[in-house]
Amino acid sequence: MNRFVYADNAATTQVSDYVYNAMLPFIKEKYGNASTIYSIGRESREAVEEARAKVAKALNAASPNEIYFTGCGTESDNWALKGVARALKEKGKNHIITSVFEHHAILHTAQALEKEGFEVTYIPVDEKGLINPQDVKNAIRPTTAIVSIMYANNEIGTIQPIPEIGKICKEAGVVFHTDAVQAIGNVEIDVQAQNIDLLSLSGHKIHAPKGVGALYCRKGIKLQNFIDGGAQERGHRGGTENILGIVALGAAMEDACRDIPGRNRKFREMTDKLIDNLLKIPHTRLNGDREKRLAGNVNISFEAVEGEALLLMLDAKGICASSGSACTSGSLDPSHVLLSIGLPHEIAHGSLRLSVGDFTTMEDVDYILEVLPPIINTLRMMSPVWEKICNQ
Ligand SMILES: *Cc1c(COP(=O)(O)O)cnc(C)c1O
Repeated sequence: MNRFVYADNAATTQVSDYVYNAMLPFIKEKYGNASTIYSIGRESREAVEEARAKVAKALNAASPNEIYFTGCGTESDNWALKGVARALKEKGKNHIITSVFEHHAILHTAQALEKEGFEVTYIPVDEKGLINPQDVKNAIRPTTAIVSIMYANNEIGTIQPIPEIGKICKEAGVVFHTDAVQAIGNVEIDVQAQNIDLLSLSGHKIHAPKGVGALYCRKGIKLQNFIDGGAQERGHRGGTENILGIVALGAAMEDACRDIPGRNRKFREMTDKLIDNLLKIPHTRLNGDREKRLAGNVNISFEAVEGEALLLMLDAKGICASSGSACTSGSLDPSHVLLSIGLPHEIAHGSLRLSVGDFTTMEDVDYILEVLPPIINTLRMMSPVWEKICNQ
């Protein structure tokens, strides 16, 4: 009998009971517009502000007024980068610093800003998938408007030295943004202590539904409006609020950040078992640093294996996972993240990301370990390059 094992929590997560119950009244009964003054409108307003306070608390923001609700993590990234860069351009700041292995929400935004005349420095990462804060320091110019470095990488799970980079930016007087979509609930985040000026997060990676995110923006940072319109989000992002999504995000943030060490321990137990056992398969390698990684992330390359074929065979056994190879991204090139840590194309193509989450069990892990090694074996038997590798 096949199990169903969802091991792609870095792609999205299931809505939790906690979040679902918080949302229920707002699906049908509590439908008031938060901008109105009668009681059901006031209820919606209170729900939005309560959610804002929960997000602020989870990040240790100085005030809930520093939280803006958005439509997704991608929107938050767009807003942070474009909003700050364009606001500072008038002051002669036309330089942006980011890294080569950001999510496309940042990379493609940076490329769009290059077309507007901004210069962008893309900081490299080392073979473990880590950024050297000194490289960021050296790249800062008098014209630098903003530095944007992701907190944790979505593919290989590496956690970046964000407090150190925050300190460098503060000392240089440069605005610092971090895409923390993957880090939320996995890493202790304190925007004040870690000198983070802007931070992006997304609901669906932490058991809220898809279509809601938030941007933290420290008071005093100049940020262009994202959507001109009504007075929602203090006039910076117009449009009637997504009350249902916002309530869900507040509950999800509260729940995800309740016990980060406990969550890490549980995830680590599962991923340690996966990593230790999968590395016993010959000609495999773990991508990303073994220690400085998200507790729920496993990213392994199997030589002479095609990523898509592997995903399809896992799917036939009821296992959902991701790979760093071509078709998923709609291009022939393997993942830019795997290439950035120096993997040759053919090895990057044979990469598998398993991301465990709150609903993953040790039985799921055992099932993966039972099913995966024979699949690797089958695929290698079919591979024309496998024999060559074995005879080396
Ligand atoms: C998922 C993800 C995003 C995009 O968030 P959406 O809400 O899906 O738009 C951005 N950055 C990282 C690191 C992510 O993992």
